Amino acid sequence: MDRLKSSLATYLGLGGLLCVLLLASAWLGLELANSERQRVRERLNFQARALAHQLEANLHEQVQGLDLLAELWTHHGRIQRSEWELNARFYIDNFPGYQSIQWADADLRIHWVEPLQGNEVALNYWLTPMSPGYATAMAARDTGKPHLSDSIELLQGGRGFVLYTPVYLRAPDGNLQFDGFMEGVFRVGNLMNHLLEQADSQLFSVRLLEHGQPLYVRAQPDSRAEDTLRLPLQLLNNRSFELELSPSAALVKSLSTPLPAVVFSAAVTISLLLIAALALARDNARRATALSASNRLLNLEAEQRQEIEGHLLDSRERLQLVLDLTDSSRDALFIFELHTRELLHMNCATYSSLGYSAEEFRQLLRDDPERLIPGFFAWLQLVQQANRLNLSMIFQREMQRRDGSLQAAEINTQLARQGEREYLIAVARDNGERLQLEAQLQKQSQQDGLTGLYNRRYFDRQLQSEWRRLRRSDSPLAILMLDVDHFKLFNDCLGHLAGDDALRRVAGALRGCLQREGDAACRYGGEEFVIILADTGLDGAAHVAARVHQRIAELGIAHPATELGRLAISIGVAIAKPGQDSEPDQLIAQADQALYAAKHRGRNQTCVWPVE
Ligand code: GH3
Ligand code: MG
Ligand code: MG
Repeated sequence: MDRLKSSLATYLGLGGLLCVLLLASAWLGLELANSERQRVRERLNFQARALAHQLEANLHEQVQGLDLLAELWTHHGRIQRSEWELNARFYIDNFPGYQSIQWADADLRIHWVEPLQGNEVALNYWLTPMSPGYATAMAARDTGKPHLSDSIELLQGGRGFVLYTPVYLRAPDGNLQFDGFMEGVFRVGNLMNHLLEQADSQLFSVRLLEHGQPLYVRAQPDSRAEDTLRLPLQLLNNRSFELELSPSAALVKSLSTPLPAVVFSAAVTISLLLIAALALARDNARRATALSASNRLLNLEAEQRQEIEGHLLDSRERLQLVLDLTDSSRDALFIFELHTRELLHMNCATYSSLGYSAEEFRQLLRDDPERLIPGFFAWLQLVQQANRLNLSMIFQREMQRRDGSLQAAEINTQLARQGEREYLIAVARDNGERLQLEAQLQKQSQQDGLTGLYNRRYFDRQLQSEWRRLRRSDSPLAILMLDVDHFKLFNDCLGHLAGDDALRRVAGALRGCLQREGDAACRYGGEEFVIILADTGLDGAAHVAARVHQRIAELGIAHPATELGRLAISIGVAIAKPGQDSEPDQLIAQADQALYAAKHRGRNQTCVWPVE
């Protein structure tokens, strides 16, 4: 807004200055034009004065001529007509302005006319008080001096003047006696034409005015009326005439110079150039200001960009460092686009731990992911599902090595979206050893140290689990409770170590009797064992019990303290269909009771619950 105001003020200022300069140019041009006009006027004035002077001088000359004739008349008396005509013709010949010279007598009647031809009408003309020149003639007579009449309508036609010069005769008494007039008749047109012939009449238009009315006009084309000059004439007594001159176009042109126009044009041009230069200078200044402002802005932006680039470089270096550091990790880290499976990043461990080159891994993931991670697509669905449901994103999978073997991998996953693309970030760790160790520990926790059979804890858990399973399938479950007969005596006779050994062999025999998956032989405690037989009824259980007795017999472990002479076992069998109203403990107790019965009945035999 401020900039707009300042621009407006500047342009107004420049506009004002331009107006002043244009006015000054116009003033200068006008001054020069005026001075030229003044020159034209001066020239006109000079011409007018020259013309007036010539007119007066010519008239004066003619007055002198007629005066001379009048003197002659006075001194010598009325001269001969022929002599008079000679003199008159002399004057007429010398001055073409004359229409005629004539003598009127004291009665004012014209007697002599020279030349007569063309002026016959004037002969014998009586000048009466009614005649137009009468007053002038009387004034001449009374004063004794020549007088010029106003213009009159000549008897010959046309307008003219009459110069009345009184003549006198000297009377014998010495007095002068009025004897009429020497009249010089001038035709206006002739007189003026003659005068103008001597002047440079092309240069102006001339008008002779009498009492302000034009009497004679000699006009030049294109004369300039506004510069008309009027000059009063004094023709003897007569002050009725004025001379009016207007400069002709030729005069104006001859006195004009292109200077005013040139000066005006030059001044206007210079003004315009000056204003244009000022406007340009102002514009340049404004642009320079704008440029320096934009330069400052650019510098600022450059500094900011430099700073950002610095940060970016720093960040990039940090990122590269982080990425480099991921290479030193033993865990595989790889990020790929979920749908195209194009890798965004992977560290060394990703491919080297599986024996691939980076390119092989990249290709495999993109083209045949199922070969790299068996069940890949199903796993991806699990990942997406877990992500939706906010479940754990850690998965146990297997990855196939280059040599075809499988590597257990615990893969910690994360989904990330960047615009339209969805990425999977996976950190995979080879946890095969750990799984193995865990399995081993698991096994150990279920195993009896001496015999290698399952231990009591495993039995309890297995019984519970089988109980639940069989309850759903409505199948029977049998358990065989076994106890070595007279084992205390055995120990006592053969020593504890032999006892241990015997237990181990018995355990081996039990293991050998079980053929179906799901059957389990456990050490229940001391020299007692228990066998779980899932989906097994009485027949099956009896069959297994019989086979156990047979195998133990086949072992033929000598027992010196018994009648049988070899180691034997007693077995109690209980069978149940796991239901809502029965409990595993109950089954154990029943098997125990059956075992007790077997012992009671002489040992080395099997009793089935319920015991009769
Ligand atoms: P019965 O026929 O009534 O079962 O007589 P028994 O002597 O076997 O019965 P009892 O329960 O009185 O004795 C069990 C003996 O088993 C006692 C113990 O010394 C022996 N025994 C228990 N555990 C072990 C073991 O781990 N190793 C050895 N060597 N002997 C054991
Ligand atoms: Mg016992
Ligand atoms: Mg025993």
